[in-house]
Amino acid sequence: MTNPLLSTWDTPFGIAPFNLISDDDFAPALDTALASHMGEIDAITSTVDAPSFSNTVEALEAAGAQLECVLGPFFAMAGADSNPQREALQRDFSPKLAAHFSEISANSALFSRVAAVWDARDSLDLTDEQQRVLMLTHRGFVRSGAALTGADEQRMKEIKARLAVLGTQFTQNLLADERDWYLELGEGDMAGLPDFAVAAARAAGQEKGLDGPIVTLSRSVIVPFLQFSTRRDLREQAYKAWVARGANGGDTDNRAIAAETLSLREERAQLLGYSNFAQYKLETEMAKTPDAVRKLLSDVWEPAKAQANADAWVLGQMMRDDGVNGDLEPWDWRFYAERRRKALHDLDEAEVKPYFQLDRMIEASFDCASKLFGLSFKPLDVPLYHDDCRAWEVTRDGEHVAVFIGDYFARGSKRSGAWCSAMRAQAKYPQAQTPVVINVCNFAKGDPALLSYDDARTLFHEFGHALHQMLSDVTYESVSGTSVARDFVELPSQLYEHWLEVPEVLAEFATHAKTGQPMPRTLLEKVLGAATYDMGFSTVEYVASAMVDLEFHDGSAPADPMARQAEILTQMGMPHAIAMRHATPQFAHVFSGDGYSSGYYSYMWSEVMDADAFASFEEAGGAFDAERAKALEEHILSKGGSRDAAELYVAFRGRLPGVEALLKGRGLAA
Ligand SMILES: [Zn+2]
Repeated sequence: MTNPLLSTWDTPFGIAPFNLISDDDFAPALDTALASHMGEIDAITSTVDAPSFSNTVEALEAAGAQLECVLGPFFAMAGADSNPQREALQRDFSPKLAAHFSEISANSALFSRVAAVWDARDSLDLTDEQQRVLMLTHRGFVRSGAALTGADEQRMKEIKARLAVLGTQFTQNLLADERDWYLELGEGDMAGLPDFAVAAARAAGQEKGLDGPIVTLSRSVIVPFLQFSTRRDLREQAYKAWVARGANGGDTDNRAIAAETLSLREERAQLLGYSNFAQYKLETEMAKTPDAVRKLLSDVWEPAKAQANADAWVLGQMMRDDGVNGDLEPWDWRFYAERRRKALHDLDEAEVKPYFQLDRMIEASFDCASKLFGLSFKPLDVPLYHDDCRAWEVTRDGEHVAVFIGDYFARGSKRSGAWCSAMRAQAKYPQAQTPVVINVCNFAKGDPALLSYDDARTLFHEFGHALHQMLSDVTYESVSGTSVARDFVELPSQLYEHWLEVPEVLAEFATHAKTGQPMPRTLLEKVLGAATYDMGFSTVEYVASAMVDLEFHDGSAPADPMARQAEILTQMGMPHAIAMRHATPQFAHVFSGDGYSSGYYSYMWSEVMDADAFASFEEAGGAFDAERAKALEEHILSKGGSRDAAELYVAFRGRLPGVEALLKGRGLAA
C-alpha cells in the first residue's frame, strides 16, 4: 500500500488526507522525504552548467516539497493532538532534522554555487523579489559559517557544540532550583490568600507528596502569593528565593555559564566577520543595529520610569497607612498594586465572560476581515486530525484564497499556549499553491463556550497571523507569509487585536449569551481600563531586562555579567522596588538558546509598531478606513519577507514607527 503522506492528495484544496494517515506512516515517509530532498540537493551541486539563479537558487526553493507534505501534518498533530507514539516520533525526528539541515548548510559545493550567483548578481536582471531571495539565501549560508575553512571552521564547530551544552545546562539548572525550593504554609500563613491561590498552594503540596499547602517558585503559584499574602515576612522570604534561582552557588549556579556563553557568542560573531554578537544578531532584524534598539528602549524607559516612581509613591503611602514603616520593597509592590487595582477597577470575570461567546468572537474576527479586506468565510466539511477542528474556505469576489482551520478547545493532548501555522504556505513557484492555515488555542469548552477578554484577544491575535499567511502574494515560499524578521512577525497579529477594542465591533458581537444584550458601556470601560493597569511596573521590569540583554551582547563580553548587570541598572536609574523581569541567572530567553539573545527587545518593538500602525487608521477615516486597509494589505500582509521590513513599514506608514501611540496606549504619555 502506498504511504498516504507521499501520494498525491486528491482532497478539497489539497488538504492533507487526515482520515487516511496513521501514526505508522510518519517515520517511513520522513526517511523517504529526507532522502529525496538530499537527492534534489545533489542534483543541484552535480549540474555541469554554470551556476545560475534558476539552476541554484530557484532549484533550492523547489527542493523539499515532499518533506513539507510530511512535516506539515506531523507538526500540526504532534503539537495539537499528541499521544505517546507521536511524542516518540518527535524525539526521533528533531535530531534527524537538525542533522539534515546542518549538512545542507555546511555543503561547500552548494555554497560555492550560491556564492557564484551572488557575485554575479548585478548582471543577472533579477526582479526585486529574486534579488531579495538571493541575498537571504547567501546570507543564511554565510551566517551559518559555510564560508569558513580550516582552523576557523573547526573552531566554529566547537563553539556551536559548547553553546548547545551550555544552553541545556542553563535550563536544567533553572528548573532544578525552581523544583527544589518550597515554603510550607501553616494555617496562619495563608492570611489574605483567595480561594484559588489556596487551592493552587494545596495542589502544589500534593504534587510534592506533602500534606499541607506550599509556595513554590513556579510563576503561577508565587505571583498570586506575592499579590495576596498579607504576611510581609513570608512574601520577603519567597521573593528572595524566587530571584535567587540560578544564583545559589553549587552545581546549579548559572552565573559562570552566562559568562562563558557571552564570551563564546562574541567569538562566534567575530569569526563570521562581525564586531560583536549584537551586530551579528540584529543584521537580519528590522531594527538592524544596536543603536536603533537602544533608542527605542530609551524612548520608552523615561516615561515608564516616571510612571513607576509616581506609582511607588502611592503604594508606599498605602503601606505606611497599613502601619508598615520603611521603604516599599520588591516583595511589597504586587501586594499593594493588587489592592489598588481592586479599588480602581474591580472587575468580576464572571460578569464579563457571558459577553464573549467563542462563536460570536470567531464571527467578529471574520467580519472585520470582511470589512477590511473583502474576505468571505464558508464552512468546509473535510476530515481533519480531531473532531474539534473546524474548517472554512476563504474567498474574495468568488475566488479561492485559502483554507482556514480553527482548533480552539483545550485538551490533554494539546500543548499549552496558542499559535498559528501554515500547513501549506502561499507560493507561485514552481507552481501556484494557496495557503492552508491553522489557528490553535486552548479555550475551555462550554455550552456555549465562553471566553475571557484575554482569550478573545488571543483569538484575534492568532487570526492576525493567519491573515498574514492567507493574504500573502509572493513568488517564493521562503519569503511567504510570516517568513519575516522576528521583530516584525508580531505586527500583523498584535495589530489585529486592536479591532477587538473597536466599540462598534464589541457592540455587535460582544452580546450576552442569555439576554443577547450588548455589553454595557461602564463594564466595557472597566475591561479596557483593567487591561492597561500598572503599566509603569510592567514596562520598567521588561525594559530593564531588554536593555541588559542588549548591552551584554553589544561591545566586549563582560567577564562578570552580574557586575555588569548592576552597572547597567544603576545607569538607568532602576526604581528600588522593581526588579528585572528576568535577571541574568534566570534569563532563559537569552541563555537557554539563541532565540531571543539580543532580541528580547522585539516584543516591545512590535508593540510600538502595532500601536503606531493602528493610530494611522484612527488618524484617517477610523478603524475600517478603506485606503488604510488597502495599504496594509498591499505593503505588509501580501508582501511577507519579500522586501526589507523597515521598507515595508515606511511604504505603509510614510515613515518609521514612533513610540507616541504605544505610550498613550499604556497610559504612559505625559
Ligand atoms: Zn504572535
